[in-house]
Amino acid sequence: MLFHFAIFDLALEKEKFDIIICGGGCSSMLLLFNLQFNPKFKTLKILVIEKEEQNKQKTWCFWHKGNHPLQHLITSSWNNIEFAAENYKTSQAIQPYTYSSIKGTDFFHYFLNQFIPQFPNIIIVRDEVLGIEKKSTQLSKVICKNHHYISSVVYSSIIEKEFHEAPIFLWQHFKGWHIKTEEKIFDETIMTIMDFSNCLPNSFDFVYILPYSSNEALIEFTAFSSEIWDESVYLSQLEKYVSNKLNGAKYQIDSMERGKIPMAHYHHNSLGRSGEILIGGAAGKIKASSGYGFEKMQLDAARLASNYYANKLPEKTDKQRFKFYDKLLLKIILQKPEEAVAIFGKLFKRIPIPMILKFLYEETTIYEEAVIFKKLPAIPFIKRIFN
Ligand SMILES: Cc1cc2nc3c(=O)[nH]c(=O)nc-3n(C[C@H](O)[C@H](O)[C@H](O)COP(=O)(O)OP(=O)(O)OC[C@H]3O[C@@H](n4cnc5c(N)ncnc54)[C@H](O)[C@@H]3O)c2cc1C
Repeated sequence: MLFHFAIFDLALEKEKFDIIICGGGCSSMLLLFNLQFNPKFKTLKILVIEKEEQNKQKTWCFWHKGNHPLQHLITSSWNNIEFAAENYKTSQAIQPYTYSSIKGTDFFHYFLNQFIPQFPNIIIVRDEVLGIEKKSTQLSKVICKNHHYISSVVYSSIIEKEFHEAPIFLWQHFKGWHIKTEEKIFDETIMTIMDFSNCLPNSFDFVYILPYSSNEALIEFTAFSSEIWDESVYLSQLEKYVSNKLNGAKYQIDSMERGKIPMAHYHHNSLGRSGEILIGGAAGKIKASSGYGFEKMQLDAARLASNYYANKLPEKTDKQRFKFYDKLLLKIILQKPEEAVAIFGKLFKRIPIPMILKFLYEETTIYEEAVIFKKLPAIPFIKRIFN
């Protein structure tokens, strides 16, 4: 999906904006979406600065309760989740949640061709943000490759360089096939969140399946590791898995997708060095141990929008104990991936899936977390507290 950039007008440089958003990706669109609900929105001069001509295509999956604010963009939903390990398989209803997916193409098509054109007060320019300077308590200057812009409030979704140098850092990397079969093979009411039955030795890898209909599915081979793997590994794992799963039935690959999500233990701040308000991945809204961020970014955008109109700075909402749990889990995956696979097996065997989803959204109480940890092997976690 192409961004429609404003033809640069020198007047923009002299103009003072009410809001500048650095980056025109997911969290920026969610912020605009949530800001619109206040009647003052139409009076605000808003500038979005995006460096790429075209956004990177992704599909966002997340779980939510009831109708979602972006329900009109959801193309598929599932009410059941399956988990499988070598000798164990469970499939459970996940109420009160629904697992849904939004295609990146639909998301950006809506924002760039429907939502933003309704508001002439929003301008998108193509430029690269190089830095932000605080000019006074009221004004900031956003310095870009080609021009600079002045604004009262700046939001930024640009991730700090230091994030990629975090001492505990790994990638969630994946390759997926959108396949079609002649026979009706898939149960379109159940998505597979993790299937470890095909896992490589000493590795943390699994297969993720989104069945869109009884003969169409996305089958994705995913691994968590410090290095990205050679293309041939994804291909041979996908081939092996698909031919087992389909029991030799014929299939055709309609399209492929590949991606990587950084996962790190890093102390994100809510404000950047020049007082800009951080959003999305830059504000730590992508969970370090799972790579999910969409729903947390949407909730954060709603909070930031109401803070904006109340003239309040963002408050720290992240619960530190979840950062600690993520850190231990990332260390186990890096140091002993097979132990991490066993922990996930026990987690899904002993804890109902809706409770795991609640835990992954960091909405559980300390008591619920104690119940979860009691059912997991303690030694791998205790060892990582001390090294
Ligand atoms: C491949 C992939 C799949 C994912 N799938 C899921 C999923 O299924 N579910 C889920 O919950 N989460 C998922 N995530 C995690 C998260 O939801 C996404 O990464 C999400 O896009 C993060 O939003 P963001 O706004 O922080 O970053 P982005 O969407 O990446 O937006 C940042 C924007 O800033 C621009 N930019 C960067 N630097 C500059 C600069 N200097 N100047 C100007 N512009 C700049 C970039 O070009 C980009 O458009 C996925 C992540 C990836 C990478």
